Amino acid sequence: MVDYCSRMSAVTVLHAPADVETMHPTDVLRWTFDTYGVDNVVVTVSFEDAVLAHLAHHADPRADIVLLDTQYLFAETLWYVEELRRRFDLNLRVVRPLADVVPDNRWQTDVEGCCQVRKVEPLQRSMDGKAAWITGVRRVDGPTRANAPIVSYDIGRSIAKINPLATWTDADMDLYAQLNDLPANPLTERGYPSIGCWPCTKPVAPGEDKRAGRWSGLGKTECGLHT
Ligand code: SF4
Repeated sequence: MVDYCSRMSAVTVLHAPADVETMHPTDVLRWTFDTYGVDNVVVTVSFEDAVLAHLAHHADPRADIVLLDTQYLFAETLWYVEELRRRFDLNLRVVRPLADVVPDNRWQTDVEGCCQVRKVEPLQRSMDGKAAWITGVRRVDGPTRANAPIVSYDIGRSIAKINPLATWTDADMDLYAQLNDLPANPLTERGYPSIGCWPCTKPVAPGEDKRAGRWSGLGKTECGLHT
């Protein structure tokens, strides 16, 4: 409780820049690293594309870039992560579920419980000792993210939450990737605009919601990381 209150007061003092809505993501990242200290910031990346990892690395090469490895990531994503890590010399940290969480069939009957032990708990652990959390959430991801702020405070997790890409469109992402010669996740050209675990991710049809292939038919739209 003491820790929560002290962090809240710190955030109350450290207001977001007045022009945050029009700042380039690189400037939002630099503001975050300057404000909290790069060692106190965690950047979680899903690696459905390379943009956030590249931006964070170039804002500060020491950026703590975290991959949450659920044990159910696509082989293509694992290959892609290694390719990017090598190509850009990313300061990558892979956070896995606790030792007693092993591959099982839980995703077939209990997606909430499966996400809890494979995503939510490891995320919480990745934040140990951190004051700010940078994510790749964008407003165009879908209705549940349409109002995502660039700078906010996650009260439940007691951490500042920064979404530097919140205002970026798909065209912005494509342009940045093109200008910086970033490779794409091999699954993108196969119809996967949003990429998570292989049991819970399907390709989507043209014009469908980007996240329509995630937990398709289960009435679930978020894994619990951003709720
Ligand atoms: S997305 Fe599916 S496989 Fe991955 S953690 Fe959640 S329920 Fe399990």
